[in-house]
Amino acid sequence: MTTHRLVLATRNAGKIEEFRRILDAIAPGSIELVGVDQFPELEDVEETEDSFQGNALLKARTIAKATGLPAIADDSGLCVDALGGDPGIFSARWAGVHGDDVANVEKVLDQMREIGDGERGAHFTCVAAFVIPGGAETTQEGTLQGEILRAPIGTHGFGYDPIFRPTGYDLSLAQLGAQVKDSISHRGQSLRAIAPRVALLLDGLG
Ligand code: IMP
Repeated sequence: MTTHRLVLATRNAGKIEEFRRILDAIAPGSIELVGVDQFPELEDVEETEDSFQGNALLKARTIAKATGLPAIADDSGLCVDALGGDPGIFSARWAGVHGDDVANVEKVLDQMREIGDGERGAHFTCVAAFVIPGGAETTQEGTLQGEILRAPIGTHGFGYDPIFRPTGYDLSLAQLGAQVKDSISHRGQSLRAIAPRVALLLDGLG
């Protein structure tokens, strides 16, 4: 079996863990995921596009070009109905500092304080993008519907997991844990759907 090297275009530790877990479950041992931290000279890619798809492609294209290796990225976030779809593409820096999960959760809870039960609908979106340097590109969206809780609960996962209860479950994503989250999550869906195309494109490289 050929093992392909793939650069994972993110520094988000929570995402890296999920990518490794999900891709390994789909194609055990066939993909060696290399983190961008292996390329210390690379600067963070600024997310300048106005959509999940645009930012996911921007990240994968930039890293593929800079490393000369096939790259996979995602752009993802929480879209809250009562907030008109916010924080959306700004999820990682909603409270001002990029990646401050605690402050981001606090801000959403504050904004939702007056919002009644039955109006707390939200979804996560993830667009995964795969790019071969100078070659093919493919993207895939996944979504997970649910609602925003009134206080954080649970210790698993990352980001907004402690305040998100997926539709059909009584627990937050942070209580449900890795196995259940991967099986229903926006990231699990997008990676499982894109994986056969990634495999075909990588096989084409020999
Ligand atoms: P990105 O790096 O711009 O795609 O930022 C994604 C941000 O969206 C993360 O920092 C989290 O705040 C949020 N997010 C995305 N996916 C998840 C998830 O699976 N659980 C909780 N929060 C998430």
